Amino acid sequence: KGEIIFEHVDFAYDKERPILRDLSFRVPSGKTVAIVGPSGAGKSTISRLLFRFYDVSAGRILVDGQDIAGVTQKTLRAAIGMVPQDTVLFNDTVRYNIRYGRPEASDEEVEDAARLAQVHSFVMTLPKGYEALVGERGLKLSGGEKQRVSIARTILKSPPILILDEATSALDSMTEREIQTALGQVSRNRTTLVIAHRLTTVVEADEIIVLEHGGIAERGTHGELLKQR
Ligand code: ADP
Ligand code: ADP
Repeated sequence: KGEIIFEHVDFAYDKERPILRDLSFRVPSGKTVAIVGPSGAGKSTISRLLFRFYDVSAGRILVDGQDIAGVTQKTLRAAIGMVPQDTVLFNDTVRYNIRYGRPEASDEEVEDAARLAQVHSFVMTLPKGYEALVGERGLKLSGGEKQRVSIARTILKSPPILILDEATSALDSMTEREIQTALGQVSRNRTTLVIAHRLTTVVEADEIIVLEHGGIAERGTHGELLKQR
């Protein structure tokens, strides 16, 4: 479930300035593909197109073999989970924040997701545990803690497709490594598109695509790309 195909995709926010040019790639079901490249290369545009915030100018995008031009944004939001660069949490309990994408989940399911995302251990040190209030009126969580709550939420929602958009770039490198482990748990056996600035953060991808000026400059495994340098 969850194969993504970009087929000769062109895209421009305004006609004068093309952003993606004849871009083709495939994320096979259950695999991880990373898009790396300098800022402005068009990486985030790829995820915006997958949610149909914008539609392609030419070519097509297929999810599970279906052209998303005929799929509603609501359906796409249900199928695609995203861990963004900066997670903003609700001023509510830790439990509420984790359960947000799947309100009907049991307490046990919430806690299982929290364990996988490495949230459980720090939540247990809070006086009120999962009932602790986070945000402006309650507890201040660190960037890494917030990111783990966001990952727990995504694990619980269990979408067939996952987009990690610079999910660790706002963190220091110690925290980044911890979060990488948690992300590894979420992306295993799940179709995953990783968007990143640096090659160093995407060692585990099945394929890495180096995007420059909206086109593919290089592609290969982490080892292959390092050898070429
Ligand atoms: P930092 O942001 O920590 O200074 P860099 O962005 O310079 O790190 O890159 C870290 C690694 O990722 C380097 O090996 C670099 O060559 C590689 N890298 C980063 N961006 C690209 C890119 N657009 N194309 C190819 N390799 C890249
Ligand atoms: P990346 O994620 O690789 O940093 P983006 O996909 O965010 O790059 O942006 C690619 C290019 O598109 C950039 O030059 C950016 O300025 C431009 N861009 C992004 N969003 C918009 C928008 N809403 N309208 C016009 N141009 C945009």
